[in-house]
Amino acid sequence: MIKIKTPEEIEQMKFSALMVGETLAEVSHYIRPGVSTKKLDSVAEDFICSKGATPTFKGYGGFPASLCISINEAVVHGIPSNREIKEGDIVSIDCGCTFNGWVGDSAYTFAVRGAKKEDKQLLKVTKESLYLGIKECVVGHRLGDIGFAIQSYCESFGYGVVRELCGHGLGRVMHEDPNVLNYGKKGTGIKLREGMTIAIEPMITLGNKELVFHNDGWTCTTMDNSTAAHFEHDVAITKDGPIILSSFAPIEEAIKSNEYLESI
Ligand code: MG
Ligand code: MG
Repeated sequence: MIKIKTPEEIEQMKFSALMVGETLAEVSHYIRPGVSTKKLDSVAEDFICSKGATPTFKGYGGFPASLCISINEAVVHGIPSNREIKEGDIVSIDCGCTFNGWVGDSAYTFAVRGAKKEDKQLLKVTKESLYLGIKECVVGHRLGDIGFAIQSYCESFGYGVVRELCGHGLGRVMHEDPNVLNYGKKGTGIKLREGMTIAIEPMITLGNKELVFHNDGWTCTTMDNSTAAHFEHDVAITKDGPIILSSFAPIEEAIKSNEYLESI
């Protein structure tokens, strides 16, 4: 069942969503060759707790950490570990914060200094596709319009659009109805209504779209080991058009001031 939110509830969700962006900005100050993904996770957890919020991912379905950190051919749900970031890595970081009973959920993919040109292009296109999806978040449009916008743009570059994973409704819990697919046909699916709040999160690959799910129960990687990218925003559908509740602005500011990261 889709849970419609009031404008006041949407304001509260915005607070949680912005906190995720601030957390990812804080984490991005620490990304550099040699840092472990576990260290990045502890930075995030400390930051979230210092704000009086809860790291939504920790314990969610048994997930052991506050961040999902997925490197290169890993698409999403990577578990922080002793693995160290290397020059040229593509690092997707997904984060959730629960504050005052509302969940924010947002992801950004970082290019570590020395990243390949084609990988950076993948990041740029994936991020652009997210905004094309958001543009469709208009009352009366349909869910399939969002998927179509993302899929058609990414496929025009020859990229793979992951099918097994998708975005979702968002609110007092991280996963509400409906599923928000990154592929679809125009004019199909449920009608978008005022007060719907959804997380849109294209997961796009440089090669083909097939995935391998690993026996840690979480990590999934591309079957052809091609690089993957993942960007996620939380969006409210209002009568005045889409409102992006999360923000990449603090993250992109932090990237500019980190000599080990490349802007995309
Ligand atoms: Mg997420
Ligand atoms: Mg999500």
